[in-house]
Amino acid sequence: MSNLAFSQVVNFDKLAEQNASYSTTIDTEYLPRLKEACVKVLEPVKAQFKFYVDLQGMNTIEGNLETKVSFICQRCGKEYTQTLKASFLSTCDEEKAKSLQIEDKVDVVELNEDGTFNLLSFLEDCLLLEIPFITTHEEGSKECQEVDNLEFGKIEKSKEDNPFSQLAALKEQLKQNK
Ligand SMILES: [Zn+2]
Repeated sequence: MSNLAFSQVVNFDKLAEQNASYSTTIDTEYLPRLKEACVKVLEPVKAQFKFYVDLQGMNTIEGNLETKVSFICQRCGKEYTQTLKASFLSTCDEEKAKSLQIEDKVDVVELNEDGTFNLLSFLEDCLLLEIPFITTHEEGSKECQEVDNLEFGKIEKSKEDNPFSQLAALKEQLKQNK
């Protein structure tokens, strides 16, 4: 497990004043809830984010995350790979947002009682929010269709070999012979 390039819990205001910016990867071992929500997280999460004070004086975090995960397709039951991408722009200055009357337009993150910010779990939350409610292959995916065709073929074949349909045909013959 590689080390994290940032602290799991940080001082949001201080990092914003310092214009702290990060371009790093997050080992999946640090993201237990994401691992739990997927079959597999296939690669470390690429993370780029920065803290800054925006033009209205609000302490802000902005960035994006990307990784590849696998899910079970709820249509065909096969495992498939999906890229999860999240982008975010959030502030911790709820009071200032309210005084500017933009609290509905900005995403406000909560700080802990002691004023610290759970950076790692915030990033994990951003990825969790990108997980689709229903996980399936893309519409029209070949892999998903192959299974449909296979099942269709099986049904066609089983009709021919069905002993009951042969019995029904025999009964029909006997009727005609009477
Ligand atoms: Zn599928």
